[in-house]
Amino acid sequence: MVVVMEERATEAQIEKVVANLVEAGMDVHRSTGVNRTVLGVVGAHKVDAALIEVMDGVHEVLRITEPYKLASRTFKPEGTVIQIDDVRIGGDEVIVMAGPCSAENEEQVFTTAAACKKAGAKILRGGAFKPRSSPYSFQGLGEEGLRMLREAADQQNMKLVSEVMDSSQIDLVGRYSDIYQVGARNMQNFTLLRELGRTRKPVLLKRGIAATIEEWLLSAEYILAGGNTDVILCERGIRTFESYTRNTLDISAIPVIKKLSHLPIITDPSHATGKRDKVAPMARASVAAGADGIIVEVHCNPDKALSDGAQSMFPAQFDRVMAELRIIAPAIGRSICVEPVVKRGWGR
Ligand code: PEP
Ligand code: MN
Repeated sequence: MVVVMEERATEAQIEKVVANLVEAGMDVHRSTGVNRTVLGVVGAHKVDAALIEVMDGVHEVLRITEPYKLASRTFKPEGTVIQIDDVRIGGDEVIVMAGPCSAENEEQVFTTAAACKKAGAKILRGGAFKPRSSPYSFQGLGEEGLRMLREAADQQNMKLVSEVMDSSQIDLVGRYSDIYQVGARNMQNFTLLRELGRTRKPVLLKRGIAATIEEWLLSAEYILAGGNTDVILCERGIRTFESYTRNTLDISAIPVIKKLSHLPIITDPSHATGKRDKVAPMARASVAAGADGIIVEVHCNPDKALSDGAQSMFPAQFDRVMAELRIIAPAIGRSICVEPVVKRGWGR
């Protein structure tokens, strides 16, 4: 941290700031220029910069290191690869997670899972506990939904990611799912994050709808600080002034995260756009921008879906986007599942 004093700061004001910092255990290096005094502070993560900034004679306080540590690339220069049996997230391969927004019934879960697997998805997604904006909307099937999702994932030799909304659901969701999903609305549920830090299962941490990248990484830090090193970040669109799409996919978050953090990052073009015809272009853009994977909603009969039907792709659309990703991934030096593409009309 660097404290820049005002040009007219008095010696007494400077000494008071120095004394405060030293008292808080900092090392302070003072440099007196022609016009102002600048204080270089070492160990400043323990001090509240805002408290220093409001002291008399202080012009501004500049932070020069990130407030998160374990999540930062400075701390761990090589990228984290999360391994779940033979599935590696954050390695060379672009990993695709696909499935319905919610588990609704056995037929829907099994049919959709089979279609996702056939197209090349390695991880089945599906919610059993749904964070819905309205308390009157479908809230998910709970354990019954988890059971169906697990059975379908096993049948298709897929891994499963499913949302945990509350600390009290951790054991239950963990019994069925390979990856805990923390939804956008829960990104700053610090109790939940801390509890997940105590587990040893990977966590897919979605970015909050109005969260900065720094806040998002600080949320990841809560999980890492508990000893769980397997956090996957998911950019799922943020709320902006644009109302045409459900959210705005922040594609630039991909290279930003790659620079700031060693954690894998994927995107969710379904929740980002809210419209199924916009999902494929955003999935392509995500992979081209360096995402380690995507998570998309696919439904065997999306027009009848109990949640997020409008953004859920038909299986044929998903096949096609997978075929497109198979062209894009190698172009940027990545691989992607090479399962044979089901031949379908390209004009659809
Ligand atoms: C979901 O994945 O179905 C979901 C509710 O996502 P988000 O938390 O990003 O809104
Ligand atoms: Mn959804």
